[in-house]
Order: sequence, then structure tokens, then C-alpha cells
Amino acid sequence: MNHSILKSIAEKHKCPIYVYDGNKIKKQYERLTNAFSSIKNLRINYACKALSNISILSLMRSMGSGLDTVSIQEVQLGLKAGFKAENIIFTPNGVSMNEIEKVASLGVQINIDNLTILEQFGTKYQDIPVCIRINPHVMAGGNSNISVGHIDSKFGISIHQIPHILRIVENTKMHINGVHMHTGSDILDIEVFLHAAEILFETASKFNDLDFIDFGSGFKVPYKFGDIETNIEELGEKLSKRFHSFCKTYGKDLELAFEPGKFLVSEAGYFLTKVNAIKQTTSTVFAQVDSGFNHLIRPMLYGSHHEIINISNPKGKERFYTVVGYICETDTFGNNRKISEISEGDILAFKNSGAYCFTMASNYNSRYRPAEVLWYKEKSFEIRKEETFDDLVQNQILIDFSKKVSVN
Ligand SMILES: *Cc1c(COP(=O)(O)O)cnc(C)c1O
Repeated sequence: MNHSILKSIAEKHKCPIYVYDGNKIKKQYERLTNAFSSIKNLRINYACKALSNISILSLMRSMGSGLDTVSIQEVQLGLKAGFKAENIIFTPNGVSMNEIEKVASLGVQINIDNLTILEQFGTKYQDIPVCIRINPHVMAGGNSNISVGHIDSKFGISIHQIPHILRIVENTKMHINGVHMHTGSDILDIEVFLHAAEILFETASKFNDLDFIDFGSGFKVPYKFGDIETNIEELGEKLSKRFHSFCKTYGKDLELAFEPGKFLVSEAGYFLTKVNAIKQTTSTVFAQVDSGFNHLIRPMLYGSHHEIINISNPKGKERFYTVVGYICETDTFGNNRKISEISEGDILAFKNSGAYCFTMASNYNSRYRPAEVLWYKEKSFEIRKEETFDDLVQNQILIDFSKKVSVN
């Protein structure tokens, strides 16, 4: 998305604001489907926790995507955005049996990731097909906060417990129609991913009535210059080949599913903020923006890197700045960054702000969550209004303790 479009959106609306490039989302979607074009039954289920605005969901639906959800509320958002229940998969972790039952009763495919729930569910509902999430114990990437396939992870049923799964299935006569894994957020080495896929194929071969195999996500996108990203094309070629040969042995053309979040929306997002103040100290030049970790917490939460560009002065001489927010705690967006010379009032754009940015925003410091704008096919659509004071207080109950409080 070019700077002048971002600038015109920033001028038309108020900063801070999230802007998403729908054309980039579509490009990423097509890149993935093209890489797997030889698969007859390919299903992309967009992991909507990355960015869950219902107009983004609607855009995903228009491209042919399904939906991956982790809470009953996300399921409801999907239904509201027009998804059919059969195009939604529910892959929660550690939620109650009650929530799983409710989602299943809506006709959504459920994915179970622990043995006790599997046993309870199978005992009660032999007729509802269930997918199982396994943990292949493959370490993808080095950051243990985002690698969820390794030995100490809370996600999935360990592959060492397959005999126990089979025992439950035999005893309850339940129907397992899919197997699933989601190893983490950083597939850098295709061979490591293919190794995990082999474990999933091995698991799949133990069930004789599957409809699909779900390889989760973990596609890495570049955050800064020189970053390695997942080579989707290479993955598509190698995994498709292996998938075809597996289906042949299995005796059925299964569906191949993925659940990308970040891959589809991360690079499409820009968070625009205005510089309130430039502050020079003895060692640093701070650029202080009209936002904080109430709006974008990833850098402070897990050290993620977001490129920062000055769209008001993109060709200016570069200087070093530490970009911070207005929250009354340390909230550094970027430390010692080279940015084109900043003046007070300039608009800074944070890149890679599509995934896990707005969805993690809060009202900390009693600030409003910002508006969201979608730029698609040369048009801008406001898809969320900025909050108002009424939104802040609407669920709060004011009790006047200066009056006598009666006890009933
Ligand atoms: C979060 C999540 C995803 C998406 O992960 P990305 O790294 O954003 O692609 C996929 N599947 C499950 C089960 C998830 O919880």
C-alpha cells in the first residue's frame, strides 16, 4: 500500500487508526491456494483470532475461505459475517465441555485436544464426527512462546497417547473424521514441517473413516528487511506430492486443510499514529505517539518487531529515534530506530499490524480502541468506528457511596 493512500486515510479519519489492505490479503490467499493447486479438496480456514472484524471475515468468505475459531464468540462472529456452520472449524484449547457442546449443536466441526473431553464427548454423541488435535512434539522455531508442538506444550494430545485415543474411539464408537496439528508460528525449515506432517500421516492411517487432514498453520512472514519467510511454493510442491501418495494408500481423496492467520493478514495491516512530542534526553531522542500498548501490545508482550515509517516525511534525512507511547508505563514500540526525520504532528505507520494487533487492543488508561479502515479495490471502507465515552462506561454500574448505602 503506498504512502499517499495511507496519508489520505489518516487525514480523512483521526489517528490512531488501523488500516488494512484488502488487495494484499487477497494476494496472500491466492499465493497459498496456487501453491497447493494440485490438491482437489483444499480448504483454507482463516484463523480469525488474528484479525476478527466481521468485514474482514466477510472478505475472507468472498474469496472462498473457511474459518478457524477458538471460542464460541468467534463462531458467532463468523455466522454473523455470513459463514455457513459447515465452513467453520472450532479448535479451542482448554475450554469447557459445555462450550464444545454448544458449538457442536450449531453444526460446526469440532476439534478436540484432550483425552478427558474426547471420552466425555464420544460417550454422549456417537453421531457427531470429531477431529482430534495431536501434538507431534516437533519444535518449530526457537521462541517457546510461539512454538506449540514441543514436549511441554499444553496444546494437543501427545502422539504417545495414540493407543489411548484408539481405546476411547473403540469403546465409545465415536467417529473421528479429521486429524489436526498446529505446531507453532515459525516454519522456517520446510523439512521440519514435513517431518511433523509424517507424524500426522502416521496418525491418520490409524483411523479408517477420515474426511480431512488439517496441517494447522505456522507460516512465517517477514517483519523486517532480510527476514526469512516460509517458502510456501516449496512447501506446496513437497507436501502436495506426499499428500497425493498418502491418499492413494489410504484409498480416498481426503481434504487438505490449513488455518493461516498471520500469513493472510499480518503484512496487510498498518497502524497509523500521530507524533505528539519529540523529547531529547542526554542519550536518546524520543518520538512520543498518541497511542501505546493499549492499541498495539506485541512489541512489549513478546518483543515483536514492527517497522516504523514516517509517512509525513518519507524522503527525509534518516535519524535515530526511540518510538514510545503515552501509557503511564514503559511502552517502547521501537528502540533506536532509523526513521526519516520526524517533526511533531507527523504520522508514523507501524507495519505488519494486521495480525494480533487490533484483536489484542484494550481500554487500558481508559483510552478508546481505535477505528479500522479497509482499503479494497481502490476504495476505503470504515469497518469499525472509534469507541466513545459511552462504550467505556456502558457496562459499569455506578453506586453513589456518598449517600447512605442501604443493606437489604
Ligand atoms: C492461532 C492459531 C492459528 C493461526 O496461527 P498463525 O501463526 O497466525 O498463522 C492456527 N490454528 C490454531 C489452532 C490457532 O490457535
